[in-house]
Amino acid sequence: MPRYSITTFGCQMNVHDSERMHDVLRRAGYTEAGGPEEADVLVLNTCSVREKAEQKLRSEVGRLARWKRERTDRVVVVAGCVAQQEGERLLKQMRAIDVVVGPDNIPELPGLLGDLALGGLPVARTVFDLDAPRFLVASPSSSSRAAPTAFVTIMKGCDERCSFCIVPHTRGPERYRSSDEIVAEIAGLVAAGTREVTLLGQTVNSYRDPLGALPRAPGASADDPDESEFAALLRRVAADVPGLARLRYTSPHPRHLTPSLVLAHAELAVLPRHVHMPVQSGSDRVLRRMIRRYTRAEYVARTRALVEAVPGLTLSTDIIVGFSGETEDDFAATLSLVREVGFKGLFGFKYSRRPHTPALKLPDDVPEGVKGERLSRLFEASEALLAAHLSGLVGTTQAVLVEGRDKERGAGGARGQGGALWSGRTGRHEIAHIEGAAELDRLGDVVEVSIARANKHSLQAELTEAARAAARPRQRGGAEPGPARRSLPVVAAEGG
Ligand code: SF4
Repeated sequence: MPRYSITTFGCQMNVHDSERMHDVLRRAGYTEAGGPEEADVLVLNTCSVREKAEQKLRSEVGRLARWKRERTDRVVVVAGCVAQQEGERLLKQMRAIDVVVGPDNIPELPGLLGDLALGGLPVARTVFDLDAPRFLVASPSSSSRAAPTAFVTIMKGCDERCSFCIVPHTRGPERYRSSDEIVAEIAGLVAAGTREVTLLGQTVNSYRDPLGALPRAPGASADDPDESEFAALLRRVAADVPGLARLRYTSPHPRHLTPSLVLAHAELAVLPRHVHMPVQSGSDRVLRRMIRRYTRAEYVARTRALVEAVPGLTLSTDIIVGFSGETEDDFAATLSLVREVGFKGLFGFKYSRRPHTPALKLPDDVPEGVKGERLSRLFEASEALLAAHLSGLVGTTQAVLVEGRDKERGAGGARGQGGALWSGRTGRHEIAHIEGAAELDRLGDVVEVSIARANKHSLQAELTEAARAAARPRQRGGAEPGPARRSLPVVAAEGG
């Protein structure tokens, strides 16, 4: 039986695509190898949003050429955005590659591998499924099925034209999945033990039900061009899947942060008190050059409405520094926006020109050294905000969804059974390491903890007495219950 291995670069959308590739290959009779060196088929699921990710692919393929020479029947597949962007060119440029497959062509992968095994030539398949969009669903054997957290794709592609971004080229125009299908997938995941679902899409909050099956959400205006049916979808998921503990989404566009979405956050307990809302710059001049289609004032007003509607809600964001023409004044405006909004998390990037983007017409005129220096100042500002936020949580009680064993000091680690065994996230997405939690024995519980200390990027927590007391009877009962059962104190209405 042929064995495969998948290496994933890039964003959550790619992680999700890799999971679907696991499903597709397993269903076709492939088994997962213990590591790339044991594989017959090696898949590199690529990202082209940043130059570095693309460079990583090129050096990885160079390394794999030697791996392939050891056994001539080994196969290298390149999937993801670089595959979509470069197509056949990759086959010509890198002879070690056998198959190039775009994100919309994942279901065709076993067939392409089969043709190759029968003596077919290297092949590139990168066709968008515009007429009949396919959204692959996790199969019962998928590793994500009983995991405490899972991603569910609700749309793909992007109709925006941000001048720095290659995604409209690599993922095509927006296509949406029906709300019936989305709800059915989430209900299946929850029945199998998943507690938190993250809805995925390039501009996730521009969602519209292709079947027109959703009623208009409260607060939605028929005259607002930025209005979508995303709030209506959130309301339907909350109503139809009551066992879901947390419903997150990524990545939204600020344009679609409309009153109906704000109202949904105010009214739906399943929506945690944290939203990631990419802003990219705090300067109107740069936002115009980026074709982001909102002003700084509009961004501030919309996020302020959200924070006022949901007290304690935190925001994180994405920012690009050193975009074409960015002056010191423009960058100062970005820094002042970071402080004004008070982001509690920030992904910062240096601008790099990408092929097939409108910004290719603009000069990449901010020197690399200046970009690096601005990025450092940006991180300094954001770390200060995060440090103040985390230390303000010391002594509070939070609800943490247990997501995994603590990597630093888990079982067998330096602290042994009495150390930090588990980690998870609060409703506001802060990472919490739970110390001395020998009572905990299962992923997916939402447990009550008190915050003992603040680390640089996370919290150190302890189970509350109530959580310990409730856990002990289960421990005495012995057997590990199934993933869908819960008995530790649960914060019913999530919110941390
Ligand atoms: S909204 Fe802009 S940055 Fe986001 S995927 Fe679309 S084009 Fe890219």
